[in-house]
Parts: sequence; C-alpha cells; structure tokens
Amino acid sequence: MTTNHEVTSAVGELAEWQRSLRAQFPIVAAHPDLAYLDSAATAQKPQPVLDAVQTYLTTTNANAGRGTYPWANRTTALVEQTRDRVREFLADPAPGRSAVHFTSGTTEGLRTIARDWLPDFLADGDEIVVPVADHRANIDPWTETQRLLARQGVRVRVVEMPYQQASGDYDHTALARLAGPRTRFVAVTHVHHVYGGDMNVHRVREAVGPDAVICLDAAQSVGHVPVSVADLDVDFVAFSGHKALALPGTGAVWARQARGPAFTPGGWSGTPNTVGIVSLAAALDWLRAAGADRIERWTVALAARLTDGLSRLDAYEVVGCRTSLAADSPVQRRRGIVTFRHRGIGSGDLGFILFSHGFMVRCDQHCQGGAGERSESVRVSLHVHNTVEEIDRLLSVLAALG
Ligand code: PLP
Repeated sequence: MTTNHEVTSAVGELAEWQRSLRAQFPIVAAHPDLAYLDSAATAQKPQPVLDAVQTYLTTTNANAGRGTYPWANRTTALVEQTRDRVREFLADPAPGRSAVHFTSGTTEGLRTIARDWLPDFLADGDEIVVPVADHRANIDPWTETQRLLARQGVRVRVVEMPYQQASGDYDHTALARLAGPRTRFVAVTHVHHVYGGDMNVHRVREAVGPDAVICLDAAQSVGHVPVSVADLDVDFVAFSGHKALALPGTGAVWARQARGPAFTPGGWSGTPNTVGIVSLAAALDWLRAAGADRIERWTVALAARLTDGLSRLDAYEVVGCRTSLAADSPVQRRRGIVTFRHRGIGSGDLGFILFSHGFMVRCDQHCQGGAGERSESVRVSLHVHNTVEEIDRLLSVLAALG
C-alpha cells in the first residue's frame, strides 16, 4: 500500500520527469490557460502517437489481411505486432496461449465477450455476478446475455455485486458469502470510474474461488496504473485504447483461454481500424517508456492532494473513498479520479463555473449503473500532464465558491 510519505514525496521526486512528459502533449502545451481534467472520458495524445499516425498514413496506409503488395503486408504485420504489444504491456506470462481481439473500446470488448463467448460457457442454473454500481458498459452486456439465454430455456441467475457504502469498494466478505459452486462468471472493474478506488481484484478472486471466470473492465486502469495479468488472476481484460492515449475508436480484449472455451469472436469482422491499432502500439510504447508505476504515483499524489483539500472545505462532499492523508486512509487506494458535489450548487452549474476558470471536468452521473449514485456529481480525472498548480488553483476556485 502507498504510504502517506510516498504520496507526498512523489510530487518532489517526479517533478522533472513529469515536466518532460507534459511537454509532449501538444494540445496541453497550446492551451496553458486550460486544465484538462477529464482523462477518464478520453485521454489527450502525446506527440509520438500523433507522429506514428502521420507516418503510417503517409507511408503505408492499406488494408490488413487482404493484399499481397508491401503496404498491405506491412499493415498486416503492424496489426499482428500490436497484438504482441498488448500482451507485453499486460505482462502476459503465457503469450502463446492468450488471444487479443481489437475493439472500438471497452464497451464493445465486454459486449463481444457477452455475445460471442459467455452463452457457450453458461449452463442452466449457473450464476453470474454483475457489478451493478459500476459503469453501464460492465452491466448491460451480462444482463442481455441472461435474457438471451432465458429465451432459449437456459436460466442463469444474476447475483448483484455487494458494495461497501462508505467507500464504493466491493464488499468482498459479503461476496464470499454469496458465491457458490454455480458462480461461474464474475464481472469486475479494476479502477472505479466514479469512486476512483482500486477495486482489489485479488480479494474478488479469494472470495469467488479458483474456478470462476473473472472478467476485468480495465477502462480506467490501462494507461493509468500498472496492469499485470501475471499478477491478477483474471481471465479477460477489456480496455479502451482512447483512454490510454491512443486514437478514438480503439480498444482491445485480452483473453487467457484457460477457464472455459477459447475466445474466438465470431463472424466476419470486416476491415480493422488499422490506423487506430497503429496509434495503440505507439501509445503502449510511450506508456511503457514513461512507466505506468510512475504515472500511477503522480496521479495518485495529485488525487490525494485534491481529496485532502476538498475534505477541508465544508461546502463539498467527496463521493467514494474520502478523508485525508492519514496513514491508514482509504484515500491511498484512490487512483487518479476524484468525484465530489457542492452542497448548494448543482453539479452542472459547478461545471460551467469551473470552465469559466479554465477547468474541463465532467458533470453528470458518469454512465453509472442503476445501483450507483442517485444525483449528479463533478468528476476530476487526472493524467500525467496534470500539475500540482492545476490542483491548487482548482482548490482555490472551489474554496472561493464557499
Ligand atoms: N468501463 C469504465 C469503467 C469506463 O469508465 C468506461 C468509459 O468511461 C467504459 C467502461 C466504456 O468505455 P468506452 O466508452 O471506451 O467503450
């Protein structure tokens, strides 16, 4: 666990490293008066990713898997190499046995698993665990599969993931009580897109036992914190490339292929998003060179500073893990996402006020499932280009609103 000292010292130790990375985001450099605080929705792109796109389109552009001339062959090779890059990035311990499938993002990835793999895996009487207070992308596909199977006479029970009210974390103890031998598939999230917490996937595995398939929504972790499938005993990882510094319309599913049938998305899939896949390879290379562990330390430190500052302002309520930098505080499990409300100003209005001061934040219900927050909130989500000055300036604007 990150200690109080580590959180605060990250800012000093990483300052120079952070400045050199921030300088690589052209849109950030071009707008010094604006602070982009919405990386959980989609991330800005560093110059090497833009360069890779430009180079590909001006030297190589062709379709993949369809031609025999050099540009087509090279495009096919780039797509295959990017599959290997995804495996390496996720620290895949058995790359010869896993599958990587490209998607437009996490939503399409999870829906592909639900549509093309899950129906063959489940039998009458099985149970699936659905995280009903997570992103809707990680809820709807599983209930759709349940309804589809019901029409074929296969009854699958949906078990709602239990949560701890105070932190928004899963209630792992309650989950262990709910899980039984028929619990075959468990959908989880790595970093919660509203509460900001690391959802402690190790404890989910302990709770559900060694045989259940665990499917990880890594939309808010890939590109933000280290994600190692060697370490996490999960069977699927779905993520959005565009949240990990690649172009919009990119993403991937990684499948371990150990529990249940092989993951072979069905049907003719048409022309792949070749330029998006090229951008994904460049983004993963950039992230590896930058170091996911350092990006995590930086954004955790900024998020802790913001949470700590907000918890001193009576007018604000922080959603999810709260409080300050005390040694055993849950704030240390908070990654680079901080969500809050003003007790008197509506979140939409607060968003307008914040933009008038140059802050771009998200103000709504953040596509959270029906068991999530009842009212809207303001979400600040960070990446490596964000600075301590941005956080301190934001806190002083928020403080002035009283
Ligand atoms: N899952 C989580 C946790 C998310 O935060 C998001 C997007 O915000 C998604 C899934 C959906 O990602 P995409 O829109 O890229 O499909």
